[in-house]
Amino acid sequence: MSSRTIQVSPFDLVVFGGTGDLAARKLLPALFQRDRAGQLPSNGRIIGVSRRTLGDDGYLGFVRQSLKDHVKAADLEPEALERFLGRIHFCSVDVTGEAGWPELAALLASGVEFVRAFYFAVSPDLFAPISQRIKQFGLVTPHSRVVVEKPLGKDGESAREVNAAVACVFEESQVFRIDHYLGKETVQNLMALRFANRMFEPLWNSTHIDHIQITVAEDIGVGDRGGYYDTSGAVRDMVQNHILQLLCLIAMEPPDAFQADSVRDEKLKVLKALKRINERNAEHCTVRGQYRSGSVGGLPAPGYLEDIGKDESDTETFVAIRAEIANWRWAGVPFFLRTGKRLGGRTSEIVVNFRPISHSIFDHTAGRISQNRLVIRLQPDEGMTLEVMIKDPGPGGMRLRSIPLDMSFAETFGVSNPDAYERLLMDVIRGNQTLFMRHDEVAAAWRWVDPILAAWNNTAQRIHHYAAGTWGPSASVALIERDGRTWLEDSE
Ligand code: NAP
Repeated sequence: MSSRTIQVSPFDLVVFGGTGDLAARKLLPALFQRDRAGQLPSNGRIIGVSRRTLGDDGYLGFVRQSLKDHVKAADLEPEALERFLGRIHFCSVDVTGEAGWPELAALLASGVEFVRAFYFAVSPDLFAPISQRIKQFGLVTPHSRVVVEKPLGKDGESAREVNAAVACVFEESQVFRIDHYLGKETVQNLMALRFANRMFEPLWNSTHIDHIQITVAEDIGVGDRGGYYDTSGAVRDMVQNHILQLLCLIAMEPPDAFQADSVRDEKLKVLKALKRINERNAEHCTVRGQYRSGSVGGLPAPGYLEDIGKDESDTETFVAIRAEIANWRWAGVPFFLRTGKRLGGRTSEIVVNFRPISHSIFDHTAGRISQNRLVIRLQPDEGMTLEVMIKDPGPGGMRLRSIPLDMSFAETFGVSNPDAYERLLMDVIRGNQTLFMRHDEVAAAWRWVDPILAAWNNTAQRIHHYAAGTWGPSASVALIERDGRTWLEDSE
């Protein structure tokens, strides 16, 4: 089955940080793939910006290498590659000064009627200076947009500052706060599953759902991001954005339309309804962890302190949280959230555990009746599995067993899912904000997260160590077992 491809409008996409890791690994490969799919119009241009004095030719070398490193060789057909390279330009600008901006302005002037998208793929402390210069040099047009990357602040206060700096120049309708998890096919499928089917929504509440788990697990350590990570930690890096966004999509009420503000209004209500975790209950509802040396995939793996080259640090590389949403639909349903580095596998998944049936008509010879479970996998292979009870086929009487109805997208549709950035970049050009965060969502997420971090700090809450390659500290198992539930991998 082939997917429909509709060309986007003519555009100029200015990537500040065009020589950075994000541009090389994600943005340029995603744009190349969309071009290859025929989605970019002939007059779509990509303008890399950084301090380096590269010139167009020098930057072309960087782009070529990035594609070689991060795109499957079979996809790099010469014709597609040459067409893509024809869109590439470069401008050398130190965004903290004035030099280079007139050249960028001159380059852009030729396409004033085009969509003009500014992608801030730079450190957040450059968002304000870039925004100011964009304004000073008159680069904002009615068709302008700006894309800002995480981290959107390191707490509520700094997020407000980032939002304010951008808001001095761009209207909220022009700001695209990216969370690439929302661009994943499965996440959009979650909305299709909930709101395009009759059979799930009536069950989607505390009467029928026992609890929900959201896990974002990485088997890698902090790598060369140690400097950044040590000032951040798992809550800021993963919970405040990705995990809370997934929670919102699982828990929100049906929006009146699949449109940006309708969806974002409903997500905001979930964030506002999250029960506060603070000094009173943080010890009970949260577990912080940090990896020690261990073994991942049969190979020895160093501990966090070795990874960051320090003697001590109490930054969490793992967190488990028991969250609750205080509203009519979800009262009493625990949401267990968990994320960490150097865990037992690389997996992102949402597990919706339904309540047991109210009465069994079968006797003990039928075996145990498992609770229905819907597993929504975002990583590594996107798809969904619905676990249902059936009669064991064949003779032998009424013996029951649980089987997974597997909806693996790649297999079912014979297509590989596009990278999230492909979808999101095209949405930016189209001006569709549905899969992007609004400023008040970011603020509400911080309002929930800040008291957790403050509680840990003020009570010096213990950090539990775990061996690399395991599923986190035993305290995380205890957290969920106190509630009479188990993490997915322990229940299999
Ligand atoms: P990076 O590899 O350090 O790249 C930073 C880029 O900014 C480089 O192109 C650098 O080029 C440019 N730059 C720095 N100072 C500049 C200045 N004064 N004027 C103009 N350009 C300047 O960082 P990154 O990993 O790409 O990350 C960029 C942003 O995206 C960060 O906010 C990061 O947190 C976020 N992010 C990254 C990823 C990822 O996978 N990498 C994922 C999610 C979010 P020059 O040195 O040549 O000037």
